[in-house]
Amino acid sequence: MEESGFLSRTCPVCGGAPPPAVEVRSETSAESLDFTALVPYWNGFFKEKVFFPYSRCRGCGLLYAPIFFNRSQLERLYAQMEPNMSEVPLEALRRTQYGYFEALKSCSHLEGGFIEVGPDIGLFTENCVREGRFDEYWLFEPNRDALPALSKVVEGRTFHVIHDMFGFSKLPERAASVAVLIQVLDHLLDPVGTLRALRQRMSSGAKLLLVTHDESSLLRRLVGWKWPAFCLQHPQIYSPQSICALLDAAGFEVLQQRKTVNFFQISYLVKHLLWAFGWKVRSVPGFGQLTIGLKLGNMLTIATPKAEGKNVPTSAP
Ligand SMILES: [Zn+2]
Repeated sequence: MEESGFLSRTCPVCGGAPPPAVEVRSETSAESLDFTALVPYWNGFFKEKVFFPYSRCRGCGLLYAPIFFNRSQLERLYAQMEPNMSEVPLEALRRTQYGYFEALKSCSHLEGGFIEVGPDIGLFTENCVREGRFDEYWLFEPNRDALPALSKVVEGRTFHVIHDMFGFSKLPERAASVAVLIQVLDHLLDPVGTLRALRQRMSSGAKLLLVTHDESSLLRRLVGWKWPAFCLQHPQIYSPQSICALLDAAGFEVLQQRKTVNFFQISYLVKHLLWAFGWKVRSVPGFGQLTIGLKLGNMLTIATPKAEGKNVPTSAP
């Protein structure tokens, strides 16, 4: 029965056969538990970390889970989740998103149609409304609780909030000059199919902005299997190399890649450091609203659709 069994996957980027060796596994492997037993781990109710083992594709180098939840299991898991309740203060989150926006601003005129998949309450979108001249916004956000805040961000503009995360057919072809996916791509079972569908809605010269985890980062190597991005919600995790393979397969050309900075209040970091040592404190005085930027193993990639019917060489002559 498809409902109870897990999904067996070939490489979601190149279609290669599952690799024989496991590269990263948790002490308790997700495969050894059944779906119902995994739900509380998905929701983070237990301190113990459990995920599906990750292997590295020998064809394209992607680190992915050859066994994972199937589509109907994923729908059930996402549907029962509480709305996003980040403990990081909004101001720190805003600074992080503004850093992503500056990368977009440096390569786009910020006009025409704008697509964002998974905008949540619009912390990235608000920069585009304030500093851009986009004439239409298409926001694909499955979380209905985010709707009031998100609608307020684009108030007075022409906008559509679409609850189907992949309802790109609602857009005219070549309508968008910018498409943004922040921390979305790590969650998708079929990232190539999603990016291909998105590409059809993008004009030539349009910019695609992606923020994902980077499994080749120093932090991942330091933390090993306890790195937070190894979890039940990520069927694969990219590196700068494997995301290039993904974009190539989906018909995009990579323009730039960089490591990103996440901002936190110093008091938040100190509090969590004390917690790690076993001292439970509610607040840490003395730092006020001071924030600090850290590179936490995330990367930003900007790409553009390859020219139609043309084989774009991967390296310059
Ligand atoms: Zn592969």
